Amino acid sequence: MPLLRAFFPASSAPASPATDAAPLTLRDKQGRLLPRRRDDHTQVLRRTVQFAFAALNIWIGVEFYRWVRFYETAGQSLRVERPAGVEGWLPIAALMNLKYWVLTWEVPEIHAAGMFLLVSFLGISWLLRKAFCSWLCPIGTLSELLWEGGKEIFGRTFAFPRWLDVPLRSLKYILFGLFFYAIAQMSTAELKAFLHTPYGLVADVKMLDFFRLMGRTSAIVIGVLLVLSLVVKNAWCRYLCPYGAMLGLVALVSPTRIRRTADACIDCGKCAKACPSLLPVDKLASVRSAECTNCLLCITACPSRDALHCTTARRWALPGWAVATGVLGVFFLVVAAARATGHWDTVIPDEVLFELIPRAGQLGHP
Ligand code: SF4
Ligand code: SF4
Repeated sequence: MPLLRAFFPASSAPASPATDAAPLTLRDKQGRLLPRRRDDHTQVLRRTVQFAFAALNIWIGVEFYRWVRFYETAGQSLRVERPAGVEGWLPIAALMNLKYWVLTWEVPEIHAAGMFLLVSFLGISWLLRKAFCSWLCPIGTLSELLWEGGKEIFGRTFAFPRWLDVPLRSLKYILFGLFFYAIAQMSTAELKAFLHTPYGLVADVKMLDFFRLMGRTSAIVIGVLLVLSLVVKNAWCRYLCPYGAMLGLVALVSPTRIRRTADACIDCGKCAKACPSLLPVDKLASVRSAECTNCLLCITACPSRDALHCTTARRWALPGWAVATGVLGVFFLVVAAARATGHWDTVIPDEVLFELIPRAGQLGHP
């Protein structure tokens, strides 16, 4: 079943005595019998959520393209609703709006949906660490599929040596720091004025243009990243994604974390081997790293039932379905609140859109 394996690879299969290389009987260091982990479907659940959100993003992209075409063709093509979720792809506007909202208590009029999505992702990161990256983000899903595909092709993945890995990992924090600094310098009046400029109003169309009218340099950079992602686990996420950097910083104060119970651990190292963030889970009492995405792959790989858990501050163990419920619950709650209060959709008059969208390519950064 190679097709099925491509979508639900071996690493997502539940541990079972038949497929696991660990001995059938597990014993602790004193020789006492340890219970084995029973089959669970956490990784099937996670992959299902990942694919559902990837499909949602593809649908949003198609609908947004059709919406833009209506204005580009002067109303000659079919009119569709603008999917406000497209603003999830405007992280800088979202951060600007969030600062504006926090300082003025006024919900911004332009691209507020992006801000609400950011709030939900920050909420998820605080509650369940960087779970956004491994459960919802379509780029994270693509990255994961790429390195899993690369592993099938080349038989292994590659990791940079530590002296190179650490400075490379700092790049995403530097990028986030630059965006954060630029936004921190702006007053609330400047933030509002920026988002009401022609450029700010059609920032979403500019983002679409980046992908559909991609220049050679951007195409080469993306091509290099795609090839790198085949051989290095989550190369973009690990080294360059400023969004992931921000969520990782929030996750540092999260009450949940992966905890290892040394007494139930047989030191097999399977958890560390399974970790896509290359964390030494088998050596840690608890995983505090900003790189942990709560993907739970370490737990799935662990043969000992009581050795590894995702736990709350009170040390209550959270099974995979509880993590999924938390991630989806926060996401849908925030989106529902934004819709119910009438802040989800950005309303720009048609005459402005007919004027701005066809010449979005000529609009420069103010
Ligand atoms: S420590 Fe576990 S949950 Fe965290 S990234 Fe590694 S495998 Fe995923
Ligand atoms: S916690 Fe890691 S090292 Fe310990 S038994 Fe589980 S997989 Fe093996």
